[in-house]
Amino acid sequence: MTETSSLYQHIPVDPLTGAISTPIYQTSTFVQEAPGKHKGFDYSRSNNPTRQTLENLIAKLENGARGFAFASGLAAIDTVIKLLEYGDEIVAVDDIYGGAFRLFTHIYKKFGIHVRYVDTSRSQNVADALTEKTKLIWLESPTNPTLKVSNIREIAQIAKANNVLLCVDNTFASPVSQRPIELGADIVVHSATKYLAGHSDLIAGLVVTANEELGDKIKFIQNASGSILGPFDSWLCIRGIETLALRVKQHSANAQKVAEFLENQDWVNRVYYPGLSSHKNYDVAADQQKYFGGVISFDLKIDDKELASQIVQKTQLFHLAESLGGVKSLICLPCEMTHKSTPSDIRYQAGVTDSLIRLSVGLEDADDLIQDLESAFEVVKEKEALTF
Ligand SMILES: *Cc1c(COP(=O)(O)O)cnc(C)c1O
Repeated sequence: MTETSSLYQHIPVDPLTGAISTPIYQTSTFVQEAPGKHKGFDYSRSNNPTRQTLENLIAKLENGARGFAFASGLAAIDTVIKLLEYGDEIVAVDDIYGGAFRLFTHIYKKFGIHVRYVDTSRSQNVADALTEKTKLIWLESPTNPTLKVSNIREIAQIAKANNVLLCVDNTFASPVSQRPIELGADIVVHSATKYLAGHSDLIAGLVVTANEELGDKIKFIQNASGSILGPFDSWLCIRGIETLALRVKQHSANAQKVAEFLENQDWVNRVYYPGLSSHKNYDVAADQQKYFGGVISFDLKIDDKELASQIVQKTQLFHLAESLGGVKSLICLPCEMTHKSTPSDIRYQAGVTDSLIRLSVGLEDADDLIQDLESAFEVVKEKEALTF
């Protein structure tokens, strides 16, 4: 597994000055000695030294061949989809990130790409959904917000046997917990906005390919379409990754405590966290993940939007916001925020009830976080005169 010491070896000291922090090469172009004769950099859309350090770093962390940095997680996803052609099909996890669903439905449908959504936590569903036109399997594990886990190794075997590419969105686990390429995936994508950058201070996306051939194709699209990450944000992302291993370990330890607390509350209905033995795919998660991450979802015994809405407004340490993976804890109400545009019957099918609350557990003291949730609920309980 990725340990901090080996991680640091992949952030080289600047050969020109010895600067221990990667220099920010804030430049658009590079002076050439003679036409076409340069030091490996000619224009920053094609290649930039700061971005290249980040790209090499993520390739190493995911144990892949090549890495690429983009302006957002969605730009990274968009680049992978551009590997496909008119008429191709994708089989995707039904609990897919909303932004990816929007991209597939409202952009790529126009270009003749069809997506089939299945419950990938049962691998056979993936095998059953493949057709001759399927060129790509799209997984997220764990998913958002119900932390559904899919068996990446098993699905990679299905992909190989059918000559289909497997791409895993590894945003929730991070390479510290889970390395899909080692489990057989061809491509990994990240919203580096979340755990990799880790401080809720930038938007970025990453792609890693398992081999050079796919790397060349992604490189071509990256340069041709141009949705690259700038030098300063690349630098921020590198700085975030320097503490990734420590953060993920602590996020996970804190989340485990909070999840166990929630599971024992009489006002809580279900708790979704892959580190709980009650989780549907606990065994698979324990096999393919080193840590279980910092995201927890739960819903209430009284499935009431108003009650849930009051709770998320009463917490002091958990700030009410979308997103996840930063050092500060966040709380959100998916039905009114991330999943507002999802029709309620589809939402309920996915387990996203009116009272489902999602937590991104940060790096504060776990006992303080538990206290915060307890107090928020007490306030609401008094006001509503609730009894259990
Ligand atoms: C946030 C997120 C994305 C999109 O990333 P952006 O950086 O916001 O564009 C994609 N996948 C998952 C799982 C995410 O959580």
